[in-house]
Amino acid sequence: MIYLDSASSTYISNEVLKEMKPFLEDTHLWANPSSKHKCAELPKKAILNARTRIADLINSDSEEVIFTSGATESINLAIKGIITDYSDSHIITTQTEHKAVLESCKYLESVGVEVTYLGVDENGLISLNELKNSIQKNTVLISVQFANNEIGTIQDIESIGRVCKDSNIPFMCDATQAIGKLEVDVEELNIDLLCLSSHKINGPKGVGSLYKRTKIKINPLLHGGGQEGGLRAGTLNTAGIVGFGKACEIAKNNLEMNHQKLSKIQAEFETFIESNKKGEVIAKSVSRLPHISNIILNEEAETFMIRNKDKICVSTGSACNSSIETHSHVLEALHLKEKIKNCVRFSFENKSHLVSKLDLFI
Ligand code: PLP
Repeated sequence: MIYLDSASSTYISNEVLKEMKPFLEDTHLWANPSSKHKCAELPKKAILNARTRIADLINSDSEEVIFTSGATESINLAIKGIITDYSDSHIITTQTEHKAVLESCKYLESVGVEVTYLGVDENGLISLNELKNSIQKNTVLISVQFANNEIGTIQDIESIGRVCKDSNIPFMCDATQAIGKLEVDVEELNIDLLCLSSHKINGPKGVGSLYKRTKIKINPLLHGGGQEGGLRAGTLNTAGIVGFGKACEIAKNNLEMNHQKLSKIQAEFETFIESNKKGEVIAKSVSRLPHISNIILNEEAETFMIRNKDKICVSTGSACNSSIETHSHVLEALHLKEKIKNCVRFSFENKSHLVSKLDLFI
């Protein structure tokens, strides 16, 4: 099997697993990190270390990192948590966000919040003018993803951050796919709320974080113990957090090399597709993530998937809604019309050695 679905999830790296293992196996490390006794000291220290590693990756203070169960929870916490007045609040987002953003916004609409969904051009980019023109007196949040999980398009985050700063509106950015592939600096980019997930960067599943700038106030979704500054109740997932921290440290140290390797793989892959007239690369002319290529094949995606079901793991649309028989909302927003049914997302690991094998299945 050739695994070309790393945008859905990645394997846990050996170094990450090695750091996690003691926190799953050793009796002296099992204590609740929030406890006051001696046995909690090492788990508490390990959590602090992980918090620092995540903060280092995004250039924040460690106290601004809130651990969650993944990007979906971080997104829900940021979007729902920032609303204080349901009858007089407005959110601006885009039509191509992950479902975690869109469904959170849809829920908020059902309880009275107004939401503007910005459209995108044929490459998946929003218009800055449209963003500026959508701002209202009661806009409480602008939420734009760093880079798209289906087509890889990178938004102009620096300019969007400037618009948010100039308008004094909090900026939330879902950087789930960007992290480990691109530099993400919350200070330089004026990001106030940033959502991350561990399992996209060779860390364990079920853990992620929300960066929240200190001055931004949000309400918790989960009430209970006072963990994470009262913003996320529940006993901390020590091993998961330790693994996530290590994955962030590796991502930071290898950022440039990872980008170079992935870009090379992507370029080889896309050259193969184009020179052999196998299909068309979506958003080819704009800045994209180096690990995602969405291709409009010359055959239907379903036919491709059936023919290659024992050979290759890829995605059509997004894995999160693969059980639902609808077209991808991202591809629909690009107005691809009937071409949508031919789209397949190939997403690479920096270890993918695939070009020599491509003839076997494409
Ligand atoms: N945001 C983006 C852009 C994603 O690609 C994903 C996962 O596919 C998520 C959010 C949700 O992440 P998690 O699986 O950690 O909840």
